[in-house]
Amino acid sequence: MNTFEQFEQHESGIRSYCRSFPVIFKQARGAELITREGKHYIDFLAGAGTLNYGHNNPVLKKALIEYLENDGITHGLDMYSEAKERFLETFHRVILEPRSFGDYVVQFTGPTGSNSVEAALKLARKVTGRSNVISFTNGFHGVTVGALATTGNGHHRGAAGVPLTDVSRMPYANYFGDKVNTIAMMDKLLSDPSSGIDKPAAVIVEVVQGEGGLNAASADWMRKLEKLCRKHEMLLIADDIQAGCGRTGTFFSFEEMGIKPDIITLSKSLSGFGLPFAVVVMRRELDQWEPGEHNGTFRGNNHAFVTAAAAIEHFWTNDEFAKSVQAKGKIIRERMQKIVRKYGPDSLFVKGRGMMLGISCPDGDTASAICREAFEMGLVIETSGNHSQVVKCLCPLIISEEQIDQAMSILDKAFGKVMG
Ligand code: PMP
Repeated sequence: MNTFEQFEQHESGIRSYCRSFPVIFKQARGAELITREGKHYIDFLAGAGTLNYGHNNPVLKKALIEYLENDGITHGLDMYSEAKERFLETFHRVILEPRSFGDYVVQFTGPTGSNSVEAALKLARKVTGRSNVISFTNGFHGVTVGALATTGNGHHRGAAGVPLTDVSRMPYANYFGDKVNTIAMMDKLLSDPSSGIDKPAAVIVEVVQGEGGLNAASADWMRKLEKLCRKHEMLLIADDIQAGCGRTGTFFSFEEMGIKPDIITLSKSLSGFGLPFAVVVMRRELDQWEPGEHNGTFRGNNHAFVTAAAAIEHFWTNDEFAKSVQAKGKIIRERMQKIVRKYGPDSLFVKGRGMMLGISCPDGDTASAICREAFEMGLVIETSGNHSQVVKCLCPLIISEEQIDQAMSILDKAFGKVMG
């Protein structure tokens, strides 16, 4: 029995196992993972998008160590703390103000992305007095009951065992290809009292669908969606849990589209250090909960405040980092296009935006086989999409060009082995 099998035995009875990477990792730095035996892997998964600034980012690590050494408060729930104050001040000064958001407030919602989605949906329902919510085909918003109801993937929804209600699912941007106007379709359905669609409280949307297969909405579609929301008095919730915090080349995935969602959900890379942290950012007039009405024990961990403030201060006070993400995104995209041309100009497609990219394969088995081959050669990479058909590149944004080159060479060979 090898150590990995022993590990699984120790874990027997616990439904928490790793299906894709049969090794035991011990250390991680930047864009690299290192096993107990000392084998190095390039990380194209980045903790499912939680590590945009890399593993153990030295700037964030230093800030956290200093805080710990000074016996900084760990958890005080709703108490004011210096770390909370610093995070809020930094987030407003560096992120919200330069983007002319206007009067938006931040609410801490709990440790995970799902907590933010739940809060956003609950708030939208309370504010509008309506229960129905529009979400989209292939959308992913979490696995807690409210968030799950808005998630498209039938495999995930099936885990509830019963139908989940109060959601009208609509076709995402190019679900039917680029000839079908899905906004006009929605407008007609929402304007027609006999369509059977109750007036929705909100529309929840990912600007780039992460788990759903790297489908990217265009700026035009997002602007029309915002207009549709205004016309039918629905709140626009942008779920930026995966696409936010710089992943698409700007802090928010929608910020160059000229839209202003009413509520934004953020989590994953917000702490920048893999620490659980989630917020909703909302127009102040939506902040209609009485104190204590929406609570939860782990809202706002001070260690996450410390690393989040340090990350925002370090990476977002000028546009150098954003530009580097855009440049690296281009390099990865070009390398992907080469792979497509080489192994399947008619069956492979590059998808996504910024550094949230993937190659769509003919089916899930092919994509999984490619990921397995890549792992053998030292690249940690996973699939996404409702049929797991997309090989998804979600590397830390601080990855070096040399590491991108190595990773893309591995991916090229893996495609060659499976499709060549
Ligand atoms: N929304 C999006 C867009 C996500 O990608 C995810 C996680 N993959 C979630 C919500 C749920 O976040 P969590 O798993 O932290 O609950």
